[in-house]
Amino acid sequence: MPSALPTRARAVIIGGGVAGCSVAYHLAKLGWTDIVLLERKQLTSGTTWHAAGLLSQSRASPTLQKLTMYSTDLYEQLEAETGVSTGIKRSGSLFAAISDERAEEVRRLASSVRNNGLDGELLTPSEAKTLYPLLNVDDVKLGYFIPRDGQADPANVALAMAKGARQQGVTIFETVKVTGITQANGRVTGVTTTDGSITADVVVNCAGLWAREVGLMAGAAVPLQACEHFYIVTEPIAGLDRSLPVLRVQEECAYYKEDAGKILLGCFEPIAKPWGAHGIPDDHGFTTLPEDFDHFQPILEMAMHRMPALQTAGIKLFFNGPESFTQDDRFHIGEQPELRGFYVLAGFNSVGIVTSGGAGMALAQWIQDGEPPFDLTDMDVRRNQPFQNTKSYLVARVTETLGLLYADHWPYRQFASARGIRQSPLHERMERLGACFGEATGWERPNWFLPPEARARGETADYRYSWGRQNWFPYAREEHLAIRTGVGFFDMTSFGKLRVEGRDAEAVLQRICANDVAVPVGKIVYTQWLNRKGGVEADVTVTRLSETAFLVITPSMTVPRDLAWLKRTMPEGANCVVTDVTAMEAVIPVMGPKARELLAQVTPADLSNAAFPFGTMQDIELGHTRVRAHRVSYVGELGWEIYASADMARHVFDRIWAAGQPMGLKPCGLHTLDSCRLEKAFRHQGHDMSDQEHVLEAGLGFAVKLDKVQGKFGDFIGRQAVIAKKDTGLDKRLVQFKLSDPEAMLYHHEPIWRDGKRAGYITSGNYGHVLGASIGLGYVTGSLGETNTEILTSSYEIEVAGKRIPATASLKPMYDPEGLRVKA
Ligand SMILES: Cc1cc2nc3c(=O)[nH]c(=O)nc-3n(C[C@H](O)[C@H](O)[C@H](O)COP(=O)(O)OP(=O)(O)OC[C@H]3O[C@@H](n4cnc5c(N)ncnc54)[C@H](O)[C@@H]3O)c2cc1C
Repeated sequence: MPSALPTRARAVIIGGGVAGCSVAYHLAKLGWTDIVLLERKQLTSGTTWHAAGLLSQSRASPTLQKLTMYSTDLYEQLEAETGVSTGIKRSGSLFAAISDERAEEVRRLASSVRNNGLDGELLTPSEAKTLYPLLNVDDVKLGYFIPRDGQADPANVALAMAKGARQQGVTIFETVKVTGITQANGRVTGVTTTDGSITADVVVNCAGLWAREVGLMAGAAVPLQACEHFYIVTEPIAGLDRSLPVLRVQEECAYYKEDAGKILLGCFEPIAKPWGAHGIPDDHGFTTLPEDFDHFQPILEMAMHRMPALQTAGIKLFFNGPESFTQDDRFHIGEQPELRGFYVLAGFNSVGIVTSGGAGMALAQWIQDGEPPFDLTDMDVRRNQPFQNTKSYLVARVTETLGLLYADHWPYRQFASARGIRQSPLHERMERLGACFGEATGWERPNWFLPPEARARGETADYRYSWGRQNWFPYAREEHLAIRTGVGFFDMTSFGKLRVEGRDAEAVLQRICANDVAVPVGKIVYTQWLNRKGGVEADVTVTRLSETAFLVITPSMTVPRDLAWLKRTMPEGANCVVTDVTAMEAVIPVMGPKARELLAQVTPADLSNAAFPFGTMQDIELGHTRVRAHRVSYVGELGWEIYASADMARHVFDRIWAAGQPMGLKPCGLHTLDSCRLEKAFRHQGHDMSDQEHVLEAGLGFAVKLDKVQGKFGDFIGRQAVIAKKDTGLDKRLVQFKLSDPEAMLYHHEPIWRDGKRAGYITSGNYGHVLGASIGLGYVTGSLGETNTEILTSSYEIEVAGKRIPATASLKPMYDPEGLRVKA
């Protein structure tokens, strides 16, 4: 054990759990020296020591599965490298599905898991019984076995990585608590501790349950909250097969692990128990929480039915320990947008052992390169909204999210907790019109509307989830058809609105945008913001409001990330400020072939093509006020997005609603926005594009202006990468697909087969009500041909729940390929 704390390090890692040890190990592997890891108690003394140690690799998300597979392989190799055994045992894992719906979910999972590179086998109930004789399969519908899954000793996994890190020169200090994060000019400069201060270029927050509080030391948000987490261990069971796979019966919230001749039964109960909301006791370390048998009892009862051997086995240990959970069941990784050089890896939602090996590797690479090594968008700490770091919100939300890990992962499933936080001024009106609200970034948004006749029948605006057509399918179809043939409106107040203003605003945006924004006042430009690799950091429209002011419109989900990108890429000394004005305006897109006819009744403005062409904005009169009308469309029809000051939005809406009655103006929800945009093959940032997808591979070369006049801050970011890609050619290409079977449903992650070989997966899917089948977008890899259009000569199938369905492919939008309708 080293004695004196150094005063300087290149990187300081806070926390000696599995996450911190992994980051230290992987940074050292990259050749970093002068790394210090600080642990307030002993290594593993937080959550790591008491994990159940399951190594379940299957994930629908390719990125997550890449991380879990990397971890599992690493833990197998660590003993040879370090001499510390991780206790890894690859005896596989078995899912048992009880309902038909869960069997469908498992079939879909099996398809994507195999596509992500992990083999698994669907089993009949009797095959599952043969594999796991203790399992009662009377009501089991399907089994799913993954032979290469396993289990390990969690503490030893962390200690092996700690040893590996030390062998490469990392210094580890135990019983040293970080008490503060120092900073200057927006950059981290080091830490203060109970034993002195250390200056550092990089500080990494791997403080587990404490990561939120450590984040706050730097003014950075790390939304997570501890919950009590339970398992029991039985007395030894005579003759128990030591090579049993891990068993999961998620509908009964339970997992079972063979544990040295005993059964460890753990649970993910539907209503969790947050713990330590008012602060975690300072002496917490290697501690356990009190038993709560009443809480565990319902799980145990189901388990005794599922595994009758438990009826006679005594309970040797009732374990309760805290683990941190997040608002969306995804962990936090990356550089904090609030402070340069301050990174986080925390909030593992009970899969930190199997994830940390890979996540530590990913974060180390990110720190080294200054950018994510692969698509980590879903877990990126820049997704978090400031309100999500409040205790009140977190306590309410994690009460639900723990249980959701084993609940049905229905398409479109909505959170039930912590709702109603952000509301449009039109909220009550939408409610009265029958809105079924969904939640995104705290915003309540109408996802679909229950029509009056359905309300008269006594139906309610609630989801009835399934993997097939859900209860709202016919209503969304009516909305979709109204947009295509009549007129409908949306409440899109949640759009992020960033005002970029100043003498240098144009030059700043010319550097950030791949399209040309040096346009006349009133012009709207669709553009991507690229990184130096040509990857898509943001997908936005930029409207020129005046000589010195622009409005950036972006999805609500990406606002914190886009703000961070603007801030980080802002040239030194630029006369330009960025303000988030999202809450100032409501947005009412009025869309469809009759949109002009409708709006003409509420405004004296000339809405003709000559006076108000597509891709422009005007300040117009509407009712007793003025609004901004943007002639753009995310659904591919004639229409205007009406931006109304929040205080006058109700007045504006009432005028539009009244005028629209004679022509059947239809309230439309987000599901319709999505189904319409998929027919038009409009991309969605975060699904169809990320910072890893090259703008040319995303098929957005038309929005890149290589020869635009360079502003005073030089070429736009990513220009060289676009030129390089044009030279080397594309490695993959985003393609639109339509299934030949009108019944099958696409959501995301369904494998794409090209000429009988795996070639990618669906990045987003929905039903195309005009095209008459499910529509999906997805990247196709493999040889694309000289002009990248030869890929269309291949034959395609999309795998849905294990069944390969022929699909037609297109590079042009299947609906209105020439884009004439928006210009009608
Ligand atoms: C009952 C249970 C079962 C589980 N089963 C599994 C499983 O089967 N598979 C799986 O993958 N995962 C499982 N997990 C989850 C897994 O244990 C955690 O996700 C993982 O251990 C988290 O690791 P960590 O490094 O992020 O946090 P921790 O292990 O808590 O490490 C954080 C460390 O930071 C230190 N620290 C905090 N603040 C400071 C400070 N100011 N200064 C210095 N040091 C500080 C703490 O002392 C602590 O040691 C389970 C968890 C529980 C509770």
